[in-house]
This record gives sequence, structure tokens and C-alpha cells, in this order.
Amino acid sequence: MSEKIIDLQKALDDALSLARQHIDKGNVATYIPELAHGNPKHLGACIMSTDGERYYAGDSKQLFTMQSISKTITLILALKLAGEDEVFSRIGVEPTGDAFNSIVRLETKTQFPLNPMINAGAIVAAGCCFEQKGDRVYEEFLDLARKLCGNKDISMDEKVYISEKTVGMRNRAMAYFLQGEGVLKCKAEDALDLYFRMCSALVNVCDLSHYALILANNGKCPKTGEVLVEESVVRIVKTLMVTCGMYDGSGEFAIKVGMPGKSGVGGGILATAENKMGIATFGPSLDRKGNSVGGLIILEELSKKLGLHLFSGNVFYR
Ligand code: GLU
Repeated sequence: MSEKIIDLQKALDDALSLARQHIDKGNVATYIPELAHGNPKHLGACIMSTDGERYYAGDSKQLFTMQSISKTITLILALKLAGEDEVFSRIGVEPTGDAFNSIVRLETKTQFPLNPMINAGAIVAAGCCFEQKGDRVYEEFLDLARKLCGNKDISMDEKVYISEKTVGMRNRAMAYFLQGEGVLKCKAEDALDLYFRMCSALVNVCDLSHYALILANNGKCPKTGEVLVEESVVRIVKTLMVTCGMYDGSGEFAIKVGMPGKSGVGGGILATAENKMGIATFGPSLDRKGNSVGGLIILEELSKKLGLHLFSGNVFYR
């Protein structure tokens, strides 16, 4: 084994051990009843490097729902189906500083959602997809997710979908407001149904590290050379991940971790190290902003140890 391989596996194992000491500081999401069954002790991570190596630690096979991580794929699909001009005439690209499910700016700032990484923005992005293809578009979303994750078996968690569809009144309130303002051009319920399905796609950290690697590699699969996402679209997605991907914790994440990242209340976080590797973590114990407590620590540690911060100036902390 080369020295590089030993270093990466050790860095991952060490980061996980450190994170494990802190996961009891958070709580699993309960506002979607089905997510309340998550085990707060679960912790896993996977790194996939551009040279095709994979490194696992902890609960790396455990399945969980993408939740907000799906917003990045929804955006990719919306940009492909409806085009950049249409999408960004209805969704902004600015951070909010508010919670992911906040409703407040829709009326006080502009009737457009401020960005596609918050619920209101993702519901409009889902609407853009639905308006183009109708019900069939969920299959297209799953196909894209399967390609990006390198796993043809990705499917939807029916129980989580039904659970959120039943209780998702805040999202419903936003969608009806957006339909009333003409920002959503399809029916609110159609956009919502698609959005809930997208959030309920089941993955593990290996799947997500593959997706993160594709983003890190600017849309091209390093293994096959196939372009899965256009480079210009990847640039938009990664930029929005930096500024808005970690909800109202995005600024702190940018300072401490310094990689494009996207989290979900299912406990996953996706992070991309430019041209080097894709990283995914899983730990359903969340902080008050909805980000995985363990995942944040793992990513901060890896960023430090491996010099992955975008502005690290190649400083290695070995
Ligand atoms: N489906 C969740 C919701 O709409 C996603 C939230 C998240 O992961 O941030 O509330």
C-alpha cells in the first residue's frame, strides 16, 4: 500500500473517532415523524478519490434519505430541462441567513425564493421540472441520481415520503404562496409531491461520495470519462453549495471546512474537494441548524489533515 492510501484511511478513521465523542450533543430530526426513528449513534463516512480509490469508515452501508442534498440534483435537472434563464428568473442566488424552512423572506424581501438550496427555492426548482415533463419527471430525477451516485438501485423511501407529505404544512404554505404569486406555474401540490419524493431518495455515504466526486471532477466521471453534468452547471451548483449549502451555517462551514457542501436533515453531508475527491458523511444527530454534528467534525478534521480548504494555500496539518 502506498503512503497516500495509509494516510487517507487513517485520517478518515481518526476523524470518525473524534466525531463519535461529540454526537450526543445533537438530536435526530423529529418534525418529519419517520425521521425520528433514525439512530443518533449512527456515524459513517466515505471518500472517493479521482484515482478511483474508495475509503470507508463506520456505518458506511447504512441507508438514509437525501433530504436537502437532493436539492442539488433537483437544480441540475431544472437547469437541464427549463434552462438557466427560466430557473433564475424565478429563484435567486443569494444566501438568506435564515433557517432552511423559513417562510419569512418570501413576503418581506421578494416573492421569489432567495436561492435553490432552501425549501422554497427547491420547491420552485421542482416546479420547473414538473412543468416540463409532468409526473414522469421523477423517474428522470431517479435516473440522474443513479448515474451521479454510480448505483442503479437508488429508489425512494415510501414511508419517509408519505410521512413528510402528511405533515409538510410549512412547505405547503410556501408552495401555495408561490403559486399565488405566479412564481410556481404548476399546481402547488404537484411541485410539492415531486419535492417530497426527491427528498425521500435513499442513499448511503458510498453513493453520495461518488456523486461528490463527479462534482469535484467538474461533471465528468473519472472512471469512464462520461460527462454526466455540464461543467457550467456544476460551477453554479458548487458555488451555491459554498454560499448556501449548509443553511444558516454556511458561513461557519466555509471558514472551518472550506469546501462546497450540502447537508440534509436525514443526517447526510456531501462535500467536494476540487479535482481531488468526493466526501460524504452520515450521522443523524443534528445541531440546531439541521446539520449533522458528527459530519461537521469529520469534514473539519479531514479538511485540516488533508489540506482540503479552498484557501488552505496547500498547508498540510500532518
Ligand atoms: N424534506 C425536508 C423539508 O422539506 C428537507 C429539509 C432539509 O433536509 O433541510 O423540510
